[in-house]
Parts: sequence; structure tokens; C-alpha cells
Amino acid sequence: MARKRTRRQLLFEHAAERDLTRLSEYEAVGGYASLRKALALEPQQIIDELLAANLRGRGGAGFPMGRKASFLPKPDATPKPIYLVANADESEPGTFKDREIMARVPHMFVEGILIASRAIGASAAFVYLRGEYLTEFEIVRDALEEARRAGLAGSNILGSGWSLPIVIHRGAGAYICGEETGLLESLEGKRGQPRPKPPFPAVSGVYASPTLINNVETLATVPKIIAMGGAAFAKIGVENSAGTRVFSLSGNVANGGNYEVELGTSLRELVYDIGGGIPDGRELKAIIPGGSSVPVLSAEDVDTGLDFDSMAQAGTMLGSGAVIVIDDRACMVQLGLRVAQFYMHESCGKCTPCREGTRWMVQLLARIEEGEATQAELDLLLNVCDRILGNCLCPLGDAAAMPVASYVAKFRDEYQRHIDEGRCPFGGESSLEGVLAPVDQHHGRARAEIEVPA
Ligand code: SF4
Repeated sequence: MARKRTRRQLLFEHAAERDLTRLSEYEAVGGYASLRKALALEPQQIIDELLAANLRGRGGAGFPMGRKASFLPKPDATPKPIYLVANADESEPGTFKDREIMARVPHMFVEGILIASRAIGASAAFVYLRGEYLTEFEIVRDALEEARRAGLAGSNILGSGWSLPIVIHRGAGAYICGEETGLLESLEGKRGQPRPKPPFPAVSGVYASPTLINNVETLATVPKIIAMGGAAFAKIGVENSAGTRVFSLSGNVANGGNYEVELGTSLRELVYDIGGGIPDGRELKAIIPGGSSVPVLSAEDVDTGLDFDSMAQAGTMLGSGAVIVIDDRACMVQLGLRVAQFYMHESCGKCTPCREGTRWMVQLLARIEEGEATQAELDLLLNVCDRILGNCLCPLGDAAAMPVASYVAKFRDEYQRHIDEGRCPFGGESSLEGVLAPVDQHHGRARAEIEVPA
């Protein structure tokens, strides 16, 4: 059982009382002091602090950033330029925290990009930003320009002789471009389809050069690590899950929103103490703890800690940090159908198990939901999930199969009732009100490129 923890904040520490989109306000609370400190360090010393901090990626996979940075060749050991890519293509249903980080603490994000680029000896940095996030694009662009005018970004940063061009590239609305190799393809102007790995981006990333890719929240945390030191940062949170994390709380909960808490905080504290619990006197039925792609938890798991190890022990993942609360009105077959429809729509079509399997999943789930399916079709649904899992080029196939298989495993009685009664026992679509948007609300638009020259 997770220990109840205090609500310590690192990223949003001063964001409630100050407008940290303004450089003067950010500098007033110590902003860009970490960049100054980092410029006085050797690049390897910066990586050593990241290793000591055990900062695990906040995008989904949870791979330690310091180790990822260690995999890149040193600038003098490769004839190729080295690049940093900030993955700001937040698309996992239920996840909206990178959006708020960019909107509220854009300079912290920019400072993190600069420090991480310095650590790996990057020649340039790219921000791949979700196309639908127009407001956030403008805020980050303006912060970058303000930093450049103040000598904190661009050419000869803080008189150090070091320069870093930063390019903001807006995506065009494809979930798969949040997958790191799909992102790289898109960044190079190609169709956003994942690449086989290896080679990993640390060896051959953007333009076939060594590339470090990290998510917005991961990079925004870097200045705090440099400020307090990696060892001090590692003491926040719980073992193997250091620091804080911003969780996007949504679904059937009174006070949805983004909340920064220490890792290890229990789901119960987030949902009830911070989120205000389930409205309308309803009962908690299930929780999706890490975005639509992770296995679901049932109500009895509500004391599980929001940390990597506790989630793994509970059979799920921390994922993208989207905590979706589901009350007792929700139909788990409808939810499975909604999730499968999303991933079918977003499948890039490159590999057969995902391209064909997600379509099969949607057809079978629709028949179960409509009360038309036979027992054999429920078995077939699980068989299709099984054939997708582990057999795809990128994680999207698993992202469709894993949650749906978990809904059947944990709520098999509901699936069975649809077959036995020949109808949905919950009635219409309204039982999912507030729980993940239907697929037609996920579409985006627009694309542009803005460069802040060195
Ligand atoms: Fe494309 Fe799906 Fe294969 Fe990923 S798993 S490469 S999204 S077809």
C-alpha cells in the first residue's frame, strides 16, 4: 500500500502566484540559474547529475534520461552532428499535462532543452509540437524569443561562445508521431511511420545522426535537478521513482485537472483528497492509471502508489500520467470499443497485426456491445489481442490490445452479460460521459515551422 505523501511541487512550485511565461518573473524565482550553473560544468558532469537523480522519462516508457544521454557518442567521437529532440506531441487519450507545462512554465522547458543539449553536445535542438496545441506553440515560441533576446538562447549563450539553434516543428495531428521513430520520420518531412529498432535514435536518429529524444515534462524537470543536485532530487518520491510528476486527472471525478504530486502518492489521495472523489454519489468502478493504452485497475486497487514499481506490481503502468476515473455507470464494453476505435484510426498501417488486428477488435467489440456476438466471438477477441501483443513494429499495437484484454480479464462478467442478455445492460452512449473522448474528437490540423536562429 502506498504511503500518503505531501503535495510537493517542483515544476509548478511558483506557477500559482506568478506569471512564469514572463522571463522576468521566471528569473525572479531562480530561473536560468541552472543554465548558468550547467555552463560552468563539464558536459559529463551534467549527465552525472541526471544519472544520480534517476530521472525516468515522463513520456510513457519511463527509461532513465541520464542513461539514455550516456548512450550517445561524445561530439569528438563522431563525424556527425548530435541533436536533441523535445517530444511535445502529446496525444495519448486522457493526457494533457505537457500542454499545461508548456503553457505555464515555458521557460523551464526551454531551460531544460538548453541544459540537456549542452550535456550531449548538441548542434541543434528540435521541438516537435502537437499541431493542435496552437496556444502552447505561441507561448513556447514567445518564451524562446524572449530568452534569445536576453542572451539566454541562440548565439553565444550567456557569453560562453556556445550557440544552439532551436527549431519548433508543429505536427499535423497523428498519434503515431508521438512514437519516437515516427516522430523522427515526420520531422524529416516523411510520412510519420515508425522505423524498425535497432538502430536506436542514440545511434541514428534525426537525419541519421545521434539524437536524444525526451518528453516535455522530462526536460522541464532538468533545471530543478541541476539546481538541487541529482542526489537531493533522488530523495524525493520513492525508490526507483524519483521526483514529482504531473498527473492529468479526468473522467468521473469531481475536480479534473493537472496535479503535480510526489511519485508514490496513492491513487486514493489523487482521486479523493485532491480530485474531490466521484460526483453524484456514484461508486468507483475502475481506474486507468497511465493513459488509454495501459491495463485497467479495479476499485480495490485504489491504494496503489503512483510510481513505476507499484504500478508494475499491480499489472499495469504509469504510462503517460493520465489517470482516468470510471464510475459504476460506465460500460466496459463501450469503453473497450472506444479505445479500439481510436487505435484503429491511428494505426499507421505498416504492420499487419496492428493494421488488421485493430479492425478486427473494433468489429468484434461492436458486435458484443450491440448484443449480437456469440461466446466464440468473445474468445476470438481475446485471441486477436493475443496475436497483436508483442508482434508489432511499434507500441501502438500493444496500446490497443493491452487495455482491451485487461477490460475483459477484470470485467468479464460485463462482457458475458452482453452475450447472455443479447443487449448492453447499461444502455446508450451516455454511460461514458466524460470518460475519454470519442475518436472523432481527436483530429487535428495545421502545420508550420518556426526557427529561432542561432
Ligand atoms: Fe504502424 Fe501499428 Fe505497426 Fe506501429 S504497430 S508501425 S502504428 S501498424
